[in-house]
Amino acid sequence: MVPRPASRLRKRCTAMVRRLCLPDPFSVSALCDSIAAQRGRKLYLHPLDKPDGVVDMPCGMWVATDVADHVFFEQQTSTFHQEHIILHELGHMICGHTIASLGDGFDPAAVGSDDTGEIVRQALTRASYNTVQEREAELVATLIRERGRQINGLSESERRLGKALGFGE
Ligand SMILES: [Zn+2]
Repeated sequence: MVPRPASRLRKRCTAMVRRLCLPDPFSVSALCDSIAAQRGRKLYLHPLDKPDGVVDMPCGMWVATDVADHVFFEQQTSTFHQEHIILHELGHMICGHTIASLGDGFDPAAVGSDDTGEIVRQALTRASYNTVQEREAELVATLIRERGRQINGLSESERRLGKALGFGE
Protein backbone atom coordinates (compact mmCIF):
# COMPACT_ATOMS: atom_id res chain seq x y z
CA MET A 1 0.00 0.00 0.00
CA VAL A 2 1.32 3.43 -0.90
CA PRO A 3 1.18 5.70 2.13
CA ARG A 4 -0.90 8.82 1.77
CA PRO A 5 1.15 12.02 1.33
CA ALA A 6 -0.07 13.30 4.70
CA SER A 7 1.23 10.29 6.59
CA ARG A 8 4.49 10.37 4.63
CA LEU A 9 4.90 13.97 5.71
CA ARG A 10 4.20 13.05 9.30
CA LYS A 11 6.66 10.17 9.18
CA ARG A 12 9.38 12.39 7.75
CA CYS A 13 8.78 15.13 10.33
CA THR A 14 8.61 12.68 13.23
CA ALA A 15 11.95 11.19 12.18
CA MET A 16 13.49 14.65 11.92
CA VAL A 17 12.30 15.72 15.34
CA ARG A 18 13.45 12.41 16.84
CA ARG A 19 16.97 13.06 15.52
CA LEU A 20 17.00 16.47 17.20
CA CYS A 21 18.78 16.82 20.48
CA LEU A 22 16.22 18.57 22.68
CA PRO A 23 17.22 20.32 25.91
CA ASP A 24 16.04 18.98 29.26
CA PRO A 25 14.20 20.78 30.77
CA PHE A 26 12.73 21.91 27.51
CA SER A 27 12.18 25.56 26.70
CA VAL A 28 12.14 27.39 23.42
CA SER A 29 15.12 29.55 24.35
CA ALA A 30 17.12 26.49 25.47
CA LEU A 31 16.21 24.84 22.17
CA CYS A 32 17.49 27.89 20.28
CA ASP A 33 20.81 27.63 22.14
CA SER A 34 21.03 23.94 21.40
CA ILE A 35 20.23 24.37 17.70
CA ALA A 36 22.78 27.17 17.42
CA ALA A 37 25.37 24.84 18.95
CA GLN A 38 24.39 21.97 16.65
CA ARG A 39 24.59 24.23 13.58
CA GLY A 40 27.75 25.92 14.79
CA ARG A 41 26.18 29.32 14.07
CA LYS A 42 24.76 32.05 16.25
CA LEU A 43 20.99 32.26 16.41
CA TYR A 44 19.36 35.57 17.19
CA LEU A 45 15.74 36.08 18.16
CA HIS A 46 14.21 39.39 17.19
CA PRO A 47 10.84 40.36 18.58
CA LEU A 48 9.10 42.46 16.02
CA ASP A 49 6.13 44.75 15.99
CA LYS A 50 4.10 44.35 12.88
CA PRO A 51 5.22 47.33 10.80
CA ASP A 52 2.54 49.83 9.98
CA GLY A 53 1.05 49.35 6.58
CA VAL A 54 2.17 45.74 6.28
CA VAL A 55 -0.99 43.74 6.22
CA ASP A 56 -0.05 40.32 4.95
CA MET A 57 3.20 39.95 6.81
CA PRO A 58 3.61 36.48 8.26
CA CYS A 59 3.95 36.26 12.03
CA GLY A 60 7.52 35.10 11.79
CA MET A 61 10.49 34.86 9.53
CA TRP A 62 13.87 33.18 9.39
CA VAL A 63 16.71 35.01 7.75
CA ALA A 64 20.09 33.37 7.30
CA THR A 65 23.24 35.32 6.69
CA ASP A 66 26.66 33.84 6.01
CA VAL A 67 27.44 33.63 9.67
CA ALA A 68 24.23 33.54 11.66
CA ASP A 69 20.53 32.78 11.75
CA HIS A 70 17.97 35.41 12.62
CA VAL A 71 14.46 34.50 13.66
CA PHE A 72 11.90 37.28 13.74
CA PHE A 73 8.66 36.84 15.56
CA GLU A 74 5.68 38.99 16.23
CA GLN A 75 5.53 40.01 19.85
CA GLN A 76 2.05 41.50 19.97
CA THR A 77 0.56 38.13 20.75
CA SER A 78 0.47 35.57 23.57
CA THR A 79 3.68 33.92 24.79
CA PHE A 80 2.34 30.59 23.58
CA HIS A 81 1.83 31.98 20.09
CA GLN A 82 5.22 33.71 20.10
CA GLU A 83 6.87 30.41 20.95
CA HIS A 84 4.92 28.63 18.28
CA ILE A 85 6.03 31.18 15.70
CA ILE A 86 9.64 30.65 16.73
CA LEU A 87 9.26 26.86 16.63
CA HIS A 88 7.68 27.13 13.18
CA GLU A 89 10.67 29.11 11.90
CA LEU A 90 13.06 26.64 13.54
CA GLY A 91 11.04 24.00 11.70
CA HIS A 92 11.98 25.58 8.36
CA MET A 93 15.58 25.63 9.52
CA ILE A 94 15.58 22.00 10.66
CA CYS A 95 13.91 20.87 7.44
CA GLY A 96 16.54 22.73 5.45
CA HIS A 97 13.98 24.67 3.46
CA THR A 98 15.16 27.22 0.97
CA ILE A 99 15.70 30.35 2.93
CA ALA A 100 15.60 34.06 2.68
CA SER A 101 19.25 34.90 2.31
CA LEU A 102 19.89 38.58 2.52
CA GLY A 103 23.62 38.10 2.11
CA ASP A 104 25.85 41.04 2.84
CA GLY A 105 23.09 43.60 2.58
CA PHE A 106 21.50 42.49 5.80
CA ASP A 107 22.47 44.41 8.89
CA PRO A 108 20.99 42.91 12.07
CA ALA A 109 21.82 46.12 13.88
CA ALA A 110 19.19 47.84 11.77
CA VAL A 111 16.51 45.59 13.20
CA GLY A 112 14.27 47.54 15.47
CA SER A 113 15.13 50.76 13.73
CA ASP A 114 12.83 52.52 11.32
CA ASP A 115 14.17 50.34 8.55
CA THR A 116 12.76 47.16 10.04
CA GLY A 117 9.63 47.23 7.91
CA GLU A 118 11.75 47.66 4.82
CA ILE A 119 14.04 44.78 5.79
CA VAL A 120 11.07 42.52 6.31
CA ARG A 121 9.52 43.57 3.04
CA GLN A 122 12.77 42.94 1.18
CA ALA A 123 13.10 39.49 2.67
CA LEU A 124 9.55 38.61 1.87
CA THR A 125 9.84 39.50 -1.76
CA ARG A 126 12.84 37.23 -2.01
CA ALA A 127 11.52 34.16 -0.35
CA SER A 128 8.33 32.34 0.04
CA TYR A 129 7.88 28.75 0.99
CA ASN A 130 5.56 26.39 -0.80
CA THR A 131 2.55 24.80 0.85
CA VAL A 132 4.29 21.51 1.64
CA GLN A 133 7.18 23.33 3.29
CA GLU A 134 4.74 25.38 5.36
CA ARG A 135 2.92 22.26 6.51
CA GLU A 136 6.23 20.57 7.25
CA ALA A 137 7.44 23.48 9.39
CA GLU A 138 4.12 23.66 11.18
CA LEU A 139 4.14 19.93 11.92
CA VAL A 140 7.74 20.02 13.13
CA ALA A 141 6.79 22.91 15.45
CA THR A 142 3.91 20.89 16.87
CA LEU A 143 5.98 17.73 17.27
CA ILE A 144 8.80 19.60 19.02
CA ARG A 145 6.28 21.09 21.42
CA GLU A 146 4.83 17.63 22.11
CA ARG A 147 8.27 16.18 22.79
CA GLY A 148 9.14 19.18 24.92
CA ARG A 149 6.04 18.62 27.00
CA GLN A 150 7.00 14.95 27.42
CA ILE A 151 10.52 15.87 28.51
CA ASN A 152 9.26 18.40 31.04
CA GLY A 153 6.46 16.13 32.24
CA LEU A 154 9.00 13.40 32.82
CA SER A 155 11.35 15.67 34.69
CA GLU A 156 8.45 17.00 36.70
CA SER A 157 7.34 13.54 37.82
CA GLU A 158 10.96 12.58 38.44
CA ARG A 159 11.33 15.64 40.63
CA ARG A 160 8.17 14.71 42.50
CA LEU A 161 9.44 11.18 42.95
CA GLY A 162 12.76 12.50 44.19
CA LYS A 163 10.97 14.76 46.62
CA ALA A 164 8.81 11.87 47.85
CA LEU A 165 11.98 9.88 48.44
CA GLY A 166 13.50 12.76 50.34
CA PHE A 167 15.85 14.13 47.65
CA GLY A 168 15.86 17.51 45.98
CA GLU A 169 13.84 20.53 46.95
ZN1 LIG B 1 6.53 29.20 7.50
